[in-house]
Amino acid sequence: MTDCLFCKIARKELDSDIVHESDDIMVFRDINPAAPLHVLAVPKEHVASVDELTRDHAGVLSEMLIALSTIAGREGTDGGYRIVTNVGPDAGQSVLHLHFHLLGGRAMAWPPG
Ligand code: 5GP
Ligand code: ZN
Repeated sequence: MTDCLFCKIARKELDSDIVHESDDIMVFRDINPAAPLHVLAVPKEHVASVDELTRDHAGVLSEMLIALSTIAGREGTDGGYRIVTNVGPDAGQSVLHLHFHLLGGRAMAWPPG
């Protein structure tokens, strides 16, 4: 996807504050953080959302979640943290490239709005 925002970040055509990178994933800080810790994990391959996942994505999915857990531990989220992904307009998905938000560093309400 040439004009997808997160594809461009993954290809480093756009700057981002990268926290972790591998051959298959990128984790970078959200430009408009909603919590003291707010990073986004994306696959480098363009996948629009959870709706496009297949079993072939199992490896990259676990890699993203384990990377977020590691970052949460490293950045001091002793009280816990939240990992969330929005799918579609009702959930407020604004970038159509799969991303997991990691939010931490403050108490959070449930259910989210
Ligand atoms: P969504 O609303 O799709 O679940 O989440 C998209 C997230 O991407 C938002 O939290 C938003 O702040 C973040 N975002 C949008 N544009 C950029 C950008 O250019 N760079 C970074 N680092 N984050 C972005
Ligand atoms: Zn993309």
